[in-house]
Amino acid sequence: MVNSRIPLIAGNWKMNKDHLQAIAFVQKLAWGLKDANHKFAEVEVAVFPPFTDLRSVQNLVDADKLEIVYGAQDVSAHDSGAYTGEISGVFLKLLGARYALVGHSERRQYHGEDDEVCANKVQASLRNSLVPMLCVGETEEELEEFGPSAVPVRQLQAALANVPRDAEIVIAYEPVWAIGTGKIATDEQAEQVCAALRESLRASHGDDFADRTRILYGGSVKGGSISGLMRQPNIDGALVGGASLDVAEFTTIARFKQHVI
Ligand code: PEP
Repeated sequence: MVNSRIPLIAGNWKMNKDHLQAIAFVQKLAWGLKDANHKFAEVEVAVFPPFTDLRSVQNLVDADKLEIVYGAQDVSAHDSGAYTGEISGVFLKLLGARYALVGHSERRQYHGEDDEVCANKVQASLRNSLVPMLCVGETEEELEEFGPSAVPVRQLQAALANVPRDAEIVIAYEPVWAIGTGKIATDEQAEQVCAALRESLRASHGDDFADRTRILYGGSVKGGSISGLMRQPNIDGALVGGASLDVAEFTTIARFKQHVI
C-alpha cells in the first residue's frame, strides 16, 4: 500500500539567529523554493526558530503569504500562571505556530525533562491546537545496553499515554549519539527504529493512527544523506539541526524529491 503521509522537512535552529537574521533566512528560503518550483503540498517545509523570532516570522509569512510553516522549540506544560520564563501554548497558537517540539534531547539532557514532563507538554500542545513533534532517541550507552529501539519506544509510549486516536502528532526519532556529531545513523538503522515506532503506535493507537502519523529521522542529516533516508518506507521526513542554518543546504534537503530516484 502506498502511504499518504506528506513528507516533512523541519529545521531546528536551536539557539541561533536573532529576529533580523530569521527574517532574512526565511525570505531566502522562500525565494529558493519558489525558484525551484517547490510543491508544498508534496513536501511540507517547517522552521523552528527561537521564541523571540516567532513574531517576525509570523509577520513575514502572513504578509508574503508564504507556504513555509513554523513551530516553537518547546512549550510549557501550563497555559498560564506563575511559571517564570516559560512560554504558553496559548501564546504560540496566537503567533501562528503549527508545531511545538517536545522532548528534544537537549531539553531532556540540560533541563531534566523526563517522560512525565514530555507527556504533559504533548497534552499542552494538543490542548492549544498545536501539533506536538515528539522527539525520542537513545544515547550511545543505552544503545549498547538495550539495543536499538527499546528506549525510543518507551519514550514514545510514555508521552502518548493519554493522546486520543484522532489526534495529530509527529514523531522525530533522533538518536542522541547522532545529534550534532556528524555521526549519522545508517538508512537501515534509522528505518529499523522508525518501523518499530510505527508498530508500537499500531499496537497502542490502532492502524489509522499508525498509518497516518509521520515519523521523521533526525541526527546529522545533510543534503547528501537525505535521499537514502527518504527511500525508507517508515521515514517520512527529517528534523535537521546544524544543516538547517545554511539556507542552500536546507533548500537542498527540502528538495530531496529532485534527487530521490
Ligand atoms: C537536532 O537538533 O534536532 C538535530 C537533529 O541536530 P543535527 O542535525 O545538527 O544533528
